[in-house]
Amino acid sequence: MDKAREESLGHYEMLWDCSHCEAKKLLGKTHRHCPNCGAPQDETKRYFPSDADKVKVEDHVYTGGDRRCGSCGTAQSAKAKNCGQCGAPLGDAKDVARVTIPKPAKKKSNLLWYILFGVVVFGVLVWFLCIRKQEVAMTVTAHRWAAVQEIEEYREVGEEAWKNEVPTGARQLSCARKQRSTKEVPDGEDCKVVKRDKGDGTFEEVNQCTPRTKREGVDDDWCSYRIDRWTKAEELKANGQGVEVAWPAVPPSQVQTGVGARRAGKKVGVFTLELNDGKNVRTCDVSEGTWKKYKDGQEIKAKVRAQSGSIVCSEL
Ligand SMILES: [Zn+2]
Ligand SMILES: [Zn+2]
Repeated sequence: MDKAREESLGHYEMLWDCSHCEAKKLLGKTHRHCPNCGAPQDETKRYFPSDADKVKVEDHVYTGGDRRCGSCGTAQSAKAKNCGQCGAPLGDAKDVARVTIPKPAKKKSNLLWYILFGVVVFGVLVWFLCIRKQEVAMTVTAHRWAAVQEIEEYREVGEEAWKNEVPTGARQLSCARKQRSTKEVPDGEDCKVVKRDKGDGTFEEVNQCTPRTKREGVDDDWCSYRIDRWTKAEELKANGQGVEVAWPAVPPSQVQTGVGARRAGKKVGVFTLELNDGKNVRTCDVSEGTWKKYKDGQEIKAKVRAQSGSIVCSEL
């Protein structure tokens, strides 16, 4: 991304008001002394003019900010070696302070604390009602299982992909233009004019610009095509009680290779424990490992939700 740029719009006179007479809107650079009463300029009284009162300084040569005479306190040009008011040498005189336009102060707010408090109260409530657990003695009364054996067949299917990602073996390609992504493109710039006190009775107006960008769509070819794939064709199901799982047998394929051939696909098992707490029978679907860990008739400590009484199957 391009960096911000600055452009000078010219130098203008700062203004000052005389504190010894009624003279106002005196020029910071031109009037080093009050034209009305002759008092030296008090550089701490400088201010930025309104747009209507702006006086341009043509061909301004900037030599640095004014320095304050350590002896009499008047502001002197950076070029001066001795004070024009009292004649004292300006060797180690300090730079005058610059006028800045104050930024509007942000309002402090307690809103954040209220939100934080609300979140904490809500969290405690959720914990109390939904998360809090207690242990309950239960007996494992039964093991149940449901087994699904998928059968896949090699057959022609329809697919879609970006043209450069279409796999080999694809047939009947048909493509159309479609937006694939976006990219950032330049879209002009945002500018604002700032005033900068130069410290020598003038200020500079500067146009500060930062580049702006926008997102633009990038099109590509989106294609549909036909291709041969191993595809889920059938599900063989079985279920039963006890710890021995009988997976459905995969029948031999009629066709050995190419379209029409069949093979065993994914195996999906659901393993259920039945638990009795003396009053109710509860069931939990668990992993095969957890399911095999317990024996029928075994006494266990199971966790239940304190509020609802529902069993926490994930902690078995
Ligand atoms: Zn005056
Ligand atoms: Zn002086």
